[in-house]
Amino acid sequence: METLVALCKRRGFIFQSSEIYGGINGFFDYGPLGAELKKNIRDCWWNDMVRRRDDVVGIETSIIMHPKVWEASGHVAGFTDPLVDCRVSKQRYRADQLFFAQVVVDGKGVGYVSALESGDTAGELTAAAESYKRKKAIQGKLEPLQLRDMTEALPDEIALIPSPATGEPGSLTAPRSFNMMFQTNVGAMTDASSVAYLRPETAQGMFADFKNVVDTGRVKLPFGIAQIGKSFRNEITPRNFIFRSREFEQMEMEYFIHEDADWAACHRQWINWCKDWLLSIGLPESHLSEYNHPKEKLAFYSRGTTDIMFKYPFGVQELWGIAARGDYDLRQHEKHSGVPQAIFDEATKKKFVPHVIEPAVGVDRIFLALLCAGYAEEEVRDDKGNVEKRTVLRFSPRIAPVKVAVLPLLKNKPELVARAEALYGKLKRKYAVFYDESGAIGRRYRRQDEIGTPWCVTIDFETVEKDGTVTLRERDSMQQRRISEDELFALLEEKLF
Ligand code: ATP
Repeated sequence: METLVALCKRRGFIFQSSEIYGGINGFFDYGPLGAELKKNIRDCWWNDMVRRRDDVVGIETSIIMHPKVWEASGHVAGFTDPLVDCRVSKQRYRADQLFFAQVVVDGKGVGYVSALESGDTAGELTAAAESYKRKKAIQGKLEPLQLRDMTEALPDEIALIPSPATGEPGSLTAPRSFNMMFQTNVGAMTDASSVAYLRPETAQGMFADFKNVVDTGRVKLPFGIAQIGKSFRNEITPRNFIFRSREFEQMEMEYFIHEDADWAACHRQWINWCKDWLLSIGLPESHLSEYNHPKEKLAFYSRGTTDIMFKYPFGVQELWGIAARGDYDLRQHEKHSGVPQAIFDEATKKKFVPHVIEPAVGVDRIFLALLCAGYAEEEVRDDKGNVEKRTVLRFSPRIAPVKVAVLPLLKNKPELVARAEALYGKLKRKYAVFYDESGAIGRRYRRQDEIGTPWCVTIDFETVEKDGTVTLRERDSMQQRRISEDELFALLEEKLF
């Protein structure tokens, strides 16, 4: 992760927000390459999810909505995470991410150890238990640890569990609920009547506008309403770079189905669609898995939730949640607004409230997954046969921030430069292209490898003196071949969709 974070900063993918003021925890800025990459993720999703489907329409709703939306959705009462404070260090932890275990030696409890959730929480706790035993000079056999998180701690245990900040027991509080919605005030008055929230998800925009979309007449069940936009959550412990932040971007779609439809089959279809889409933007299948939420942990209205998980360097974590939510959301809005949400079924001549399947994913989590999966360091041979290291981001052409780099072989040969500039001008009308004439050609290739540019095009003497062909150099194979300009445009047309 450290290498990736450094690369992101060095090459202008991601910066800490307000860095000149020391940064602000949980907020990030996307630099020139990051903004391009993010836009490509959004565009691919929008094209595949909305434009290329006949049964999904896209909308864009406001970030601040009527506060009653969040009462109806249950967020005001229940969008909480369990919070634990350390009274000494003033650190705050999400109770379900703070793990502990009793240290038991020869059947006798001798103390407690704790660790924040990581890729290897069990390993860390075991190491902590062994070190605890050594420090206290306790003889005997350490028994296997029983891991629990702080939401499962018994009242008597809380004072005995060490704070991860201080390593000492006695400072952790019992877990309490913390609402993660950011509050603001609308208008000049700042009293209870003006309280509003920054949306913690985009989904409620689709539910609140359901009737408007139906009444504009373009849709027939089953159909989806999709949206891309910023969401805000006052996460207790933002961490793992952009994986969990306080301002992030979501791509969500609500797929409305008949109340009698086979929801499980539809749910499965959407899980498959999401997985295929992730593969289509270049994530490797080996890093993806599915996690079915156990029935007893689901919200009462939920019929099933499956997460597509990604193997990040810090562990296997949720990337995309696909939830079967029944008719809960529309019914809640019907109840709280008084506006009927039922639609008329021509076949049965009856009115009913549709059910919904919701695939919800974060752009930033996809961004991070692409970086993690694409990053490689390799040993390669340069023109003179010397071994050197190359850093490469193997982005699929669909999402690569720069599609082609145009490189005149020598910058002091006006005929090469003129030709290269002309091609650059033509390409940039349609694609994100980079022009680079400084430094040895090998160095320029390496610079493009490091930002994930799939193709470099070199304009050399053969181009201007012979047949106009250019050298096309491919990032992954590093192979070079000559192609005509027409072939170059045909290649881009085929690969960039
Ligand atoms: P988690 O359990 O990781 O907090 P969640 O189950 O609360 O996530 P959802 O409410 O289902 O997440 O949100 C849908 C998607 O939005 C998630 O799958 C994830 O990709 C993204 N997402 C949610 N919270 C964050 C966050 N704080 N930072 C970045 N992306 C997020």
